[in-house]
Amino acid sequence: MKDACSPPEIARVWRNFVDGEWCEGPGGEHLTVMDPATAEPLAEVAMAGPRDIDRAVAAARGVTASRALSGMRPLDRGAMVQQMGRLLRDRADETARIICRDVGKSLSDAKGEALAAARYFEYFGAAASQIEGQFIPLADGLTTYVKPEPHGVVAHIVPWNFPHLMAARSLAPALAAGNANIVKTAELAPLSCYVLAEVAMEAGFPAGAVNLLCGTGAEAGAALAGHGGVDLIVFTGSDQTGREIMRAASARIVPSILELGGKSAAIVRSDADIDTVVENVRIGIFENAGQVCDAMSRLIVEADIHDRVVEAVAEMVRGLSIGPGWENADITPLISAGQKARVTDAVASGRAAGARVVNGGGSCPDRAGYYHEPTVFDRVTADMDLSRKEIFGPVLSILRADDLDHAITLANSTDYGLAAGVFTRDLDAALWCADQLEAGLVHINEWALGSCETPFGGVKQSGIGRERGREGLAGYVQSKSINIRHARPI
Ligand code: NAD
Repeated sequence: MKDACSPPEIARVWRNFVDGEWCEGPGGEHLTVMDPATAEPLAEVAMAGPRDIDRAVAAARGVTASRALSGMRPLDRGAMVQQMGRLLRDRADETARIICRDVGKSLSDAKGEALAAARYFEYFGAAASQIEGQFIPLADGLTTYVKPEPHGVVAHIVPWNFPHLMAARSLAPALAAGNANIVKTAELAPLSCYVLAEVAMEAGFPAGAVNLLCGTGAEAGAALAGHGGVDLIVFTGSDQTGREIMRAASARIVPSILELGGKSAAIVRSDADIDTVVENVRIGIFENAGQVCDAMSRLIVEADIHDRVVEAVAEMVRGLSIGPGWENADITPLISAGQKARVTDAVASGRAAGARVVNGGGSCPDRAGYYHEPTVFDRVTADMDLSRKEIFGPVLSILRADDLDHAITLANSTDYGLAAGVFTRDLDAALWCADQLEAGLVHINEWALGSCETPFGGVKQSGIGRERGREGLAGYVQSKSINIRHARPI
């Protein structure tokens, strides 16, 4: 990517997209998006409030009432979704520059996010025409057929850590299934999502099929989640907000898909390849400064390999660079001052609880942006907050396990259940662990495997429902049973 050593230029002023038009909020108010790398204002975004949400929901309801999407031939609708994917792929460098500036992540990771988003539209566009129903012959003269139908209006509430990708992950299947959509972007990093509205328009979706607004969670987010015109809520974010979403959904008895946080653990058996473990630790907990829902935040190491693994991880971490995303540094800034304070507090609590700092621990006071050193704790025990609470920062906790049973007990000892992993050359051990681990995803010998084709989601407090793959697509339709009594013609 060109010009990687100076901050890429991006637009200063951004507007919301409602009913096919770019618009300001009714009060003309703006939100300021901060640059995580410099802690200076980066851009201004029109701030949506409840009245804008009303307008967006009305526009989306108009699309469902007209059957403009649901009445289309799925092959044609899918072609439009695929076209969005092609347009996103063409604009991946531009989108990567926006992601790099507003999230703060490295340009190369940002490009990966932009291309992965394009793949969602390509994959789900191709899958649109494969949404099929059922035919159930009950008895002579009695037949049921089951028809999948879109929910209607889908609210997508997305987080800031992979804003473009998380919006794409739910918008692509929702459109493929024929739903109309309102995306509420995250106020800390909304900018890259606007590209999705542009390509939806360019691909020919009718006004109101994709509405995209930024506003605060407490105001715009709550107004959308509680809106009487929404038929399905898809939420990706923290478990605290997830509870609010469930309350809003329960008040109106609408379904919700919840993709929440994690405290994911990888088990390292004594026969594991240490170089592989170390490389996966680098990606698993230090990518995007650890602000990843399925980050490998705990490493559970069998006793007889423990010291060697700790030393190898420490050596890798000593070589990591810290800097802005446009320099493709290994450790990029956290999203905000608040997130930095959360990480700093977690590190202080880890020290106070008696865990040993192997690397880092500092909060980079000489840097203007929201940086934190990559930090490794050893001698972490299951009762410490370091083991139980999601930090969402570049902080790894290493726990020592007496044997494999103990490792499983430690891995399962949190309220979360998003991802888990095991590093071993022993296939029996790997598959046994896969059965025992309480997680929606289990990775064997490589962290964060999987793609748009494979289901993603958590158990326990990491969420409800699955995104991605055929199972993900199934979340965007509901079935209607049509029961027919038919007699012999007279
Ligand atoms: P968050 O819960 O603070 O915010 C997420 C979104 O919800 C934002 O758009 C926010 O404006 C909105 N929101 C906040 N309060 C709301 C309310 N009362 N009603 C409606 N909407 C509201 O989460 P975050 O800090 O943006 O993201 C980080 C969290 O997201 C972490 O816990 C991370 O693990 C999780 N996450 C999960 C996945 C996954 O796929 N499981 C992916 C990415 C992030």
